[in-house]
Amino acid sequence: MYIDDFKIMLSKLFEYYGADRHIDKGQLDQWFKKVRDIPTEASTFIHDRITSNSESIPRNPPKHIIAYFFEWKNLNQDKLLQFPKTKCDECYSTGFIVVRRPAIKDNRQLTYVKWGTKRKKDSEPEIVKYYEVVSYRCGKCENWKSYVHEKTMPAITNKWAQEQGVEVIQFPKTKSTQPQDINQITGNIGTKI
Ligand SMILES: [Zn+2]
Repeated sequence: MYIDDFKIMLSKLFEYYGADRHIDKGQLDQWFKKVRDIPTEASTFIHDRITSNSESIPRNPPKHIIAYFFEWKNLNQDKLLQFPKTKCDECYSTGFIVVRRPAIKDNRQLTYVKWGTKRKKDSEPEIVKYYEVVSYRCGKCENWKSYVHEKTMPAITNKWAQEQGVEVIQFPKTKSTQPQDINQITGNIGTKI
C-alpha cells in the first residue's frame, strides 16, 4: 500500500475508537515500513477484524495489521491462484517482463576495476560496468495476478523498454503458445501474496 492508504486506514481506526491521536512523522514512517507490502485491498478486512476484536485502539497498530493481513492472505490464497492465464505475446504469457539495465548509483553507472591475471606495469585495467536484472509486470496481460500484487512492481511493455534503451531478457527463447510457469523462469519476481 501507499503511505496515503495507510494514513486513511489509521484515521478510520482512530475515528472508530473516538481516539484523537497525533502521530508524528517519525512514528508514522516507522509504522509504515512494517506494513508497506500489505495490499490496500486487504485494509477493509483488517479494519473489520481489529474493530471486532480490540476493545480500544491498539497501541501498536502495525502488529495487529500484519497479523490480520496473514489471516486475509490465507483466505484469499485460493482466489489469487485461480486467475486464469491468457496467451500473451508481449511476455510469453509469463505475466512478467525482465530487463537488464545499468546499475545506477548517484547518477552514475556502477563499475569496478578488473585487473588482468598477469599484472604488468604497463597493463591497463579493464573497467567493468555493473548491470542489474529487474522484473516488471507485463502491461498487456494480467498473468502476473497469481503471483504479485499490482503495487509490488510497475507494469511495462517491450516498447517502453526499447524506448528506455534497456535490454529485455527473453524467457524462454522460443515463443510458446502455452502459458509458462514463471517459477521455472525466475525465482526473483518479488513478493508472492
Ligand atoms: Zn503479458
